[in-house]
Amino acid sequence: MSRRSLPPRAPSTRPATLAHDVDVLVVGAGIVGLAHAVEASARGASVVVVERDDRALGASVRSLGHVAVTAQDGPALACALVTRDKWIALGRQAGFDVSEAGSVVVARAEDELAVLEDFVCARDGAAHLLDRAGVARHLRSVDDDVVGGALLATDLRVDPRVAVPEIARWLSAQPRAAVVTGTSVLGVEPGSGRSLVRTSRGDVIARTVVLAVGADVDRLLPAVAEAHGLTRRTRQALRVTGPTAPGERGAGGGTVLLGGTAVLHHAGLTRSPQHKEVRERLEREQPEVVAAEVNLRATPLADGSLLLGDAGAQGGALPFRAEALDELLLREGERLVGGPLRVVERWAAVEATAPEPFVVARPQRGLLVVTVGAPIGLSTAFGLAPRTLDGLL
Ligand SMILES: Cc1cc2nc3c(=O)[nH]c(=O)nc-3n(C[C@H](O)[C@H](O)[C@H](O)COP(=O)(O)OP(=O)(O)OC[C@H]3O[C@@H](n4cnc5c(N)ncnc54)[C@H](O)[C@@H]3O)c2cc1C
Repeated sequence: MSRRSLPPRAPSTRPATLAHDVDVLVVGAGIVGLAHAVEASARGASVVVVERDDRALGASVRSLGHVAVTAQDGPALACALVTRDKWIALGRQAGFDVSEAGSVVVARAEDELAVLEDFVCARDGAAHLLDRAGVARHLRSVDDDVVGGALLATDLRVDPRVAVPEIARWLSAQPRAAVVTGTSVLGVEPGSGRSLVRTSRGDVIARTVVLAVGADVDRLLPAVAEAHGLTRRTRQALRVTGPTAPGERGAGGGTVLLGGTAVLHHAGLTRSPQHKEVRERLEREQPEVVAAEVNLRATPLADGSLLLGDAGAQGGALPFRAEALDELLLREGERLVGGPLRVVERWAAVEATAPEPFVVARPQRGLLVVTVGAPIGLSTAFGLAPRTLDGLL
């Protein structure tokens, strides 16, 4: 889709009182909560999304906007394929830009290229090998050590800072749907056929409650977090400008660029036995990149700037951002895009991690807890929601 991004607008209005009785109450206006609310609304339910902040400020808006479809695996791949179609449809309905230009993995070593070759063989059609010249078309300049790469053709790019609030706005314009901000959910008490939801603006009765609070499950329902091995991980990311001028729509015109570390982080790529050689080599040559679990991605935004991420050190914790991680990201980002970059924004984000990519729990009747335990929430949420709501709505 080639429509220009709309500038972010004010969040949805905050009603003085909450609806007292709803079919579905969703806690959290991040992408997982919104995906469940959109799905419940499409099924004809009355829906209220309750968000504690004045607008969603969690992992979703701090993400890199890479809808990583092609290199998912297993149930995440099935969810990602559904999610892809839904992003494109919502982009049209809600009026935000969704780039279908795919993503390009840039390989700088033969072992990285070998992983990509294995992957392209296994995923005939959705991914294509690129030679050096093919990769160069997506970069401002290409280093001598670039050996080739792959186009992950079914990946999308969205601007999460625009798309997430626009989905909330679009949802609140649907019949029997509302997004209520600045309101914390304090607890959910079971009842007969209905749950009583305690909020900072009064109680609500709901037939189904979807708790989509990301990493904050450990605050509201610590027993659920512990039972599923859910922990927190702090990551750092940057918004940078250059080497393209503002307005050029970034290198590759909407294509997300991925560094060779992608072969360590994308489940579909780690299926290749060769990925172990990549890890061993990187541990020898760039131990700081492995230690910081750098998952190098550069996402072009409509104004020509790039979202660049992400990295996090073991034990890294808010509120203190490590300058060394930002420097590492900047250095690797400049290598990736082939030119100097200037930092315009820095941030940290907390994401949920778990042994399984999806944590879905029903700790009491009428209460559904959904958290994505891998950094793939934007890529899978719209495929996950229909699955988790089946049998409930
Ligand atoms: C740096 C970084 C980059 C990433 N890039 C990508 C990417 O490019 N592609 C991708 O697919 N994934 C990416 N991810 C992962 C992705 O961001 C997450 O998987 C996804 O955003 C999780 O969405 P969520 O809705 O569960 O959580 P969140 O977006 O964190 O939303 C949870 C919401 O719940 C609200 N909340 C919490 N407690 C309460 C309460 N008691 N009452 C009311 N509201 C409450 C919070 O305020 C928050 O708005 C990235 C993650 C990070 C950290």
